[in-house]
Formats: sequence, structure tokens, C-alpha cells
Amino acid sequence: LASRETKPEDTIVTVGPVKIGGSRISVIAGPCAVESRDQIMETAGRVRESGAVILRGGAFKPRSSPYAFQGLGMKGLEYMKEAGEAYGMPIVTEIVSPELAAQMNDLTDMFQIGARNMQNFELLKKVGALGKPVLLKRGPSATIEEWLLSAEYLLASGTKDVILCERGIRTFETYTRNTLDISAIPVVKRLSHLPVIVDPSHAVGIRAKVSPAGLAAIAAGADGLTVEVHPRPDEALSDGPQSLYPEQFERLMRDIEALAPVV
Ligand code: PEP
Ligand code: MN
Repeated sequence: LASRETKPEDTIVTVGPVKIGGSRISVIAGPCAVESRDQIMETAGRVRESGAVILRGGAFKPRSSPYAFQGLGMKGLEYMKEAGEAYGMPIVTEIVSPELAAQMNDLTDMFQIGARNMQNFELLKKVGALGKPVLLKRGPSATIEEWLLSAEYLLASGTKDVILCERGIRTFETYTRNTLDISAIPVVKRLSHLPVIVDPSHAVGIRAKVSPAGLAAIAAGADGLTVEVHPRPDEALSDGPQSLYPEQFERLMRDIEALAPVV
């Protein structure tokens, strides 16, 4: 179902009023995690102003350490929904457990399957069956074929709307958080009709490297980006070092526009 052989034309995924794929560039932005009502409201306003079309933010965070901030849970999702409505943006948030599907379904416009859960097949089946758009991140050690098979799980379970997201893979290099696999973009665009976006924030993990990596992704044919932005990255409860200042995000959006049409 994910293959371009069975469906030659590009799939355009609709998330509320937003379309992703085709000949447009769409940018998703927001904090790593929803930290408070004020924080998500402020971030939403700033990224919207710069041209983001979908608001991102984690309410349930899959942290490497059990002692790290785990997210505000359903309260965080409620704040994010409110912020999305206030600024006219649909929202995307990560789901980490099939048990949360029913309660999260009413509040989110698109589900994100995180890199760590790319091969959580029971989660894929449950989320796919809800029929909503799904943003599927590539696992840190997943091959392109494994990634596409996970997309297949979602499509076979009922949804028609899957967006693939390259977010860097694990290599021997330790300078950056992960290694952005730029070549995956043209490879997947040829193998599949699904839209492909890139998350330069988790790929590089260093604020100053996020924009160059994001621009490279657009130049390589990505349909958009998802970018972490925080009004005060130094105070962020997660992923502060890779979160852009709103001014940097604004600059990135102008640079993307110079390369390709942004919706
Ligand atoms: C995220 O987008 O917040 C996230 C945790 O990313 P990943 O699953 O790619 O690590
Ligand atoms: Mn993050």
C-alpha cells in the first residue's frame, strides 16, 4: 500500500485545513514538550507568525531516563489543543501506548509515532485503525525497508494518511546527536507515494546546525520539516540545546521560502 508501484501519484495528506505533499513545503513547529499553558501559547503564536502550519509538542514524552521530565500527559494535550485553536493550527503529538488512543483521539489532529516506537507493531495497528493522519518517524536504527514496512502496518490497519519523517539514524559519529540520512529522501520519494518530511532538530541535536540541515533536506526534495522551537531554550525541560529561538525559526522560514514555495 505504501509503494509507488501500486499508486504512482503522490499522496497528499490532509490534516484539518492543511495539506502536506505535492508541490508545497509545509513546516510543523513547536516545543519538544508542552511544559505549561503559557509556554505552548507563546510558542504557538511565534511559530504561526513565522509561517508554521501545524503545531507540534509532546504531552507523553519517551525519555531515555526514567528520571527525566515525562510530559504533562492529558493536561498538556489539552493546553496544546487550546493553543492550536487560538492560532488556527492543527496539532500533532506523540502517542506512546495503545491504551492512550481513545482518550487522545478527540484532542489531536495527527498522531506521531516516535522513532523509539517505529516497530511497536501493536501501537501501529491501534493508531492506524483510528483512521487519522499519522506522522511516522524513522527508527534510530531502522533501514528504509523496515521504515516502509511500518508505514505498511499503519495503512493496512485503516488510515490512508501517513507522513514519513526522517529524523537521523545512529552511526559511529558522535559529534551530532544522530546522522541525518539526506539520501533517504530521494530514495523514499521514489519507492513510495507518501509525503516525506525531515526533523533536523533530533537529527543534529545542536541548535546552530538545525537550519543548515533543514535547508539541505528541502533542497533534497523533502515535503517539509518538523522543527523544535522554544521561546526560552535555556529553560526548556527537554531538548533545549537543539531548540531554535523564535527569531532563528523566522530566519529559517525565510530561507526555506527562497528555496521553494511554502504554504
Ligand atoms: C519528538 O519528536 O519529540 C521525538 C521524541 O522525536 P524522535 O521520536 O524522533 O526521537
Ligand atoms: Mn525533542
